[in-house]
Amino acid sequence: MTAQVIDGKAFAAEVRGKVAEHVARLKEKHDLVPGLAVVLVGEDPASEVYVRSKGKQTTEVGMKSVEHKLDADTSEADLLALIDQLNKDDSINGILVQLPLPGHLDEDLVINSIDPAKDVDGFHISNVGLLGTGQKSMVPCTPLGCLMMLREHHGSLSGMNAVVIGRSNIVGKPMAQLLLGDSCTVTIAHSRTKDLADVVRRADIVVAAVGRPEMVPGDWIKEGATVIDVGINRIEKDDGKTKLVGDVDYASCAERAGAITPVPGGVGPMTIACLLANTLTATCRANGLEEPEGLTA
Ligand code: NAD
Repeated sequence: MTAQVIDGKAFAAEVRGKVAEHVARLKEKHDLVPGLAVVLVGEDPASEVYVRSKGKQTTEVGMKSVEHKLDADTSEADLLALIDQLNKDDSINGILVQLPLPGHLDEDLVINSIDPAKDVDGFHISNVGLLGTGQKSMVPCTPLGCLMMLREHHGSLSGMNAVVIGRSNIVGKPMAQLLLGDSCTVTIAHSRTKDLADVVRRADIVVAAVGRPEMVPGDWIKEGATVIDVGINRIEKDDGKTKLVGDVDYASCAERAGAITPVPGGVGPMTIACLLANTLTATCRANGLEEPEGLTA
């Protein structure tokens, strides 16, 4: 079998298009412009690239984008004061604090100081609890993007065996909750899992979120399974240049899978599209308006 390629780039463009249409309607009917504030502390080059890209795409869909760049030695009190100010600002509907934060800042404390209704990353403990109990919440962007692609490809996921490799708070755990919510039978595998190959071979859906280049070989994949590759790893090629690869060995997995996401061009573009979708959802909820269909879990 040669897998169908799930084109995350094209799907993300579709999601952004839907968001832009809805944003235009909000402006026309309610004179509302959703606002997203991104807070970046320090000068991590990868984070700066993400933040720039987020800002550009936010304005492209017609939203207001605000960036707060703070020095690496910013005190926790100053950062919390900024978040408090953004929590109270009615023109801001979404707040994202770019992670990782410099070591002297308590990430949990900072994330949990964001108003949960504006927590468009879905990392606030209230949103984690709401998601875990099947209630309306803000859903972390990367797993939400994976779920959207799976629903688009399969329609119903009910009764499917799903294996999530990785148990991080930002990808693995919320991904497992979302798949449970869609009635999959879910296994979370991690660094201590025994016979990982065996576990993965039982999966109709494999979500790899490990951070180890090309770790999953094709012979772990059940014939016809759907493979969602969250990993983004930069590796050096023989010629000394670098390239991005995922957590699965794309060539061999694509030979057995029914469908697979490429890296780059799979999960990555969906993450920012879902950030915009979450900002729109937060705006609608804050104003008591109907939420857009198909853009939340
Ligand atoms: P993380 O380091 O927080 O978690 C990695 C998980 O993998 C851990 O739970 C660990 O138990 C598990 N693991 C490690 N070694 C393992 C092994 N040998 N076998 C099985 N499990 C193992 O990483 P994360 O933040 O969840 O990110 C995972 C990957 O996804 C990274 O490559 C990251 O760059 C990428 N990522 C991509 C996006 C995107 O937008 N596409 C977003 C977030 C993360």
